Amino acid sequence: MSGVNEIRSTFLDYFGKNGHEVVASSPLVPRNDPTLMFTNAGMVQFKNVFTGIERRPYTRAATSQKCVRAGGKHNDLDNVGYTARHHTFFEMLGNFSFGDYFKETAIELAWNLITKEFGLPEKRLMVTVFSEDDEAFGLWKKIAGLPDEKIVRIPTSDNFWQMGDTGPCGPCSEIFYDHGEHIPGGPPGSADADGDRFIEIWNLVFMQFEQMADGQRIALPKPSIDTGMGLERIAAVLQGTHDNYATDLMRSLIMAVANATGVDPDGDQKVHHRVIADHLRASSFLVADGVLPSNEGRGYVLRRIMRRAMRHAQLLGAGEPLMWKLVPALVREMGQAYPELVRAEALIAETLKLEETRFRKTLARGLAILDDESRALRAGDNLSGEVAFTLYDTYGFPLDLTQDALRTRGIGVDTNAFSAAMERQREKARAAWAGSGEAATEALWFGLKEKVGATDFLGYDTETAEGVV
Ligand code: ATP
Ligand code: MG
Ligand code: MG
Ligand code: MG
Repeated sequence: MSGVNEIRSTFLDYFGKNGHEVVASSPLVPRNDPTLMFTNAGMVQFKNVFTGIERRPYTRAATSQKCVRAGGKHNDLDNVGYTARHHTFFEMLGNFSFGDYFKETAIELAWNLITKEFGLPEKRLMVTVFSEDDEAFGLWKKIAGLPDEKIVRIPTSDNFWQMGDTGPCGPCSEIFYDHGEHIPGGPPGSADADGDRFIEIWNLVFMQFEQMADGQRIALPKPSIDTGMGLERIAAVLQGTHDNYATDLMRSLIMAVANATGVDPDGDQKVHHRVIADHLRASSFLVADGVLPSNEGRGYVLRRIMRRAMRHAQLLGAGEPLMWKLVPALVREMGQAYPELVRAEALIAETLKLEETRFRKTLARGLAILDDESRALRAGDNLSGEVAFTLYDTYGFPLDLTQDALRTRGIGVDTNAFSAAMERQREKARAAWAGSGEAATEALWFGLKEKVGATDFLGYDTETAEGVV
C-alpha cells in the first residue's frame, strides 16, 4: 500500500520522466487574480501562460497544487462531513501542456499512469466526454479499448470548461472509478450520480477554443491541456477504500482528534472527527499563506471554517481549545511536502488558539439558544432568520455554522429573513449616524468600521454578506 506522500511523488516523477517541468504549488491566495477568492485548481498559476500573456521556459508542467474550495464559485464547505470525497482543502495533481501535446497524448499519459504505474483494474474505470466531442470518444476507444457503454457522453457544462465569459475553453473528459455495489450511487450521467460509488478521480480539460465577446468560438492555433486529479481520491482508490477520510494521511489527523478528546473515531460521533481533520488542514494552510481570521473577504471564509470546526470540537466534549493541539500532527504528515507549514507552525497554533479561546466564550451560550429555538422544529422546517441573525451578530455564529448544526435534523434556515435582518441592522447603524453633518468623518468612520468590524463579532461589510448568505 502506498501512502499519500508516495503517491504524490509517483505522479510528479511520472510526468517528470515524460518531459514535464515539476513546478511547486502556488500559494492559496492567488497572486495574479483579485477576482478569485482562493486557488481552487492547478491551472490557476498558469492562467496567463494559457492565454499567451506570459511565457515560461517549458511547455509541459506538472504540479501538486494546494486548493481550497470554500466560498466563491466552487464551494465544497457544505459537502464536508457528508460525502466521502469532498474536502475544503485538498491537493490537486495536474499535468499541463502549453500548446505542446493535445488530446491524444493527454489521454495516453493519463491512462498509462492509472492502469500501468498505479495498476488500477480496467474493469473498474469509466469515462465521460462532452457530448459533441467525437474525437475524445474515439481516442478513449482506441487508446484504452473501453466499450461504448463506458464512455458516457455528457451534454452539460460539467463537461465543458471555460476560464471565464471570454478566453480559452473546451470540452473535458472525466475518469471515474467504481468502488463497487456496496456503496450507494449511480454512474456519471445517471439520476443518482451524486453518491460515493462512482467517484470522479481525474478531469482532463482540452482547451481548444477561444470564446469571443461577440459569442463566436474560434479554434485556438495551439490547443492546450489542463488536468486535475484529487490526490486524496486516488489515494483512497489505491488504498482500497472509497472513503478519502480512511486514507493514511487523513486517518492520522483523525487519530490526533481521537487522542486529544478520548472519543472513538469510528463510533456514532465520527463525523465530528472528519470535519475537524478537514478544517484543520484548510485553516492551517490558509494561515501559512498569510490569511488571518477577520470579518471580511478571505479572512471571513477562514473564520467560518475555523468556527465550524470549533463547534464540532465542542460537540466532542473538548473542555478547552482543541484545534491548536492538532497542528503538530498535521506538520508531521505534510511538513515535508509543504515546508511553509513548518515555518508557520507557531503562528498557526497561536491563531487557532486565540480564535478558539475567543469563540468559546459565546459558543456554548449560542448553542443553547439554538437548541431552545429549534426544539419545536421538524424536518423540512426553517429556523427563523431573526434567530440565525442574533446568533451571527451577538454570538459570532457564521450562517453556515448554524445551517451545519441543523442539517442532520433536516432543518434549514430562513435565509431571506436572515439577509433582511442584516440589512435592517446596517440601515440602523447608518441612520444612527445621519445628521451629524460631518459627511467626511462619517464616511471615514463607516469605512473603518467595515474594515475592522464594530466589535469582534460584527461583520458589516458587503463581501461578508456575500460570503455568509
Ligand atoms: P466533483 O464533481 O466530485 O465535485 P469537480 O468536477 O468539482 O469534482 P474538478 O473541478 O474537475 O472537480 O477538479 C479536478 C479534480 O479534483 C476532481 O476530479 C477531483 O478528483 C478533485 N476534487 C475536486 N473537488 C474536490 C474536493 N472538494 N475535495 C477533494 N478532491 C476534489
Ligand atoms: Mg465539485
Ligand atoms: Mg465533477
Ligand atoms: Mg470535474
